[in-house]
Amino acid sequence: MEKFKVDKHGYYGKFGGAYIPEMLHKNIEELQNKYLDIIYAPAFQKEFHQLLKDYVGRPTPLYFAKRLSEKYATNIFLKREDLCHTGAHKVNNTIGQILLAQKLGKKRIIAETGAGQHGVATATVCALMNLPCVVYMGEVDIARQAPNVQRMKMLGAEVRPATSGSKTLKDATNEAMRDWIAHPEDTHYIIGSVVGPHPFPDMVARFQSIISEEIRWQLKEQTGSELPNYVIACVGGGSNAAGAFYHFLDDETVQLIAVEAAGEGIHSGKSAATTALGKPGVLHSSKTLFMQTDDGQVVEPHSISAGLDYPGIGPIHAHLFDVGRAKFLSATDEQALDAVLELSRLEGIIPALESAHAFAILSEIGVKKDDTVVINLSGRGDKDLDTYLKRIAL
Ligand SMILES: *Cc1c(COP(=O)(O)O)cnc(C)c1O
Repeated sequence: MEKFKVDKHGYYGKFGGAYIPEMLHKNIEELQNKYLDIIYAPAFQKEFHQLLKDYVGRPTPLYFAKRLSEKYATNIFLKREDLCHTGAHKVNNTIGQILLAQKLGKKRIIAETGAGQHGVATATVCALMNLPCVVYMGEVDIARQAPNVQRMKMLGAEVRPATSGSKTLKDATNEAMRDWIAHPEDTHYIIGSVVGPHPFPDMVARFQSIISEEIRWQLKEQTGSELPNYVIACVGGGSNAAGAFYHFLDDETVQLIAVEAAGEGIHSGKSAATTALGKPGVLHSSKTLFMQTDDGQVVEPHSISAGLDYPGIGPIHAHLFDVGRAKFLSATDEQALDAVLELSRLEGIIPALESAHAFAILSEIGVKKDDTVVINLSGRGDKDLDTYLKRIAL
């Protein structure tokens, strides 16, 4: 029954665990011991679902995309996470974690961010709950993601530059860990994807699992069956995919398809296709697959979409790949850009660059006329308009 979910030691098969410094043992142990009791307490569930409804705007629609379906000669439904408050699925998780932080009595929130989407989702819930918020962000990312830095400041968060190493996401993650070690008592670290030490991957997957919970009843309402033939989602760390897959993991007739960013091509040296290029090792305090040199140093990833520009995947996805429960494909920058324009013109929906990767492989999976295909549209494209205007010939 639970062969695809986390075991009591925090592992998904060979992957997962909590490889943390001694100084964080108390915090992590507290979380491990308490998170399930806290998040499944009736009062917590009531508050969480109320906020998802009134603040985030859930349930998000499951939309039958008629023209896209005609083009691919099948039946395609879009799960509209792009319509969530702040423009993507990330807020499902930050709402859950801010409530958890309150129950733990924490008085201060820290987070790391690459593109700034998770930083914005965290700054948003900190404003909502009146908690001080520090977001670590690589200096390079601060320069290239200025609008999100401005949003975080507007929301009252402090954005602290990470100035070591490549000055990008992994350096911001190191800085956030360092901060947490220095302030273990009063601070909660809101991790933004299904990554990091146990219990974060499982906790984030549970908060995001609202996506597949809704898909099941929405499909039943529209087609008479809860089970599609395919669920497709893009994978950076893997939180939107974990949420879209979660309640289908044990229904093995449902084919789960994860799409990674191939960047300029899997073997171009500028890619983020972790399952094709990665090896097992410890990244961000958990055992998982990530792109590394022969001596285990992280290889800098590349993707045109900042949200997929991550050198690893969460341990749940390493496991789903390892046992073959999910199929992993990849799409290049160019394929994603083509998919952006196609969805814009066929359905009047401008997707986020990340989400476009999930659409880019539609012609590769052999869908049939009677199939039901669900694509998780993880976010909207407003944040990517500059890139679109530079890269797409209109
Ligand atoms: C952050 C982001 C992603 C990638 O993160 P996951 O944890 O893999 O979901 C995908 N889509 C959008 C719109 C994002 O903002």
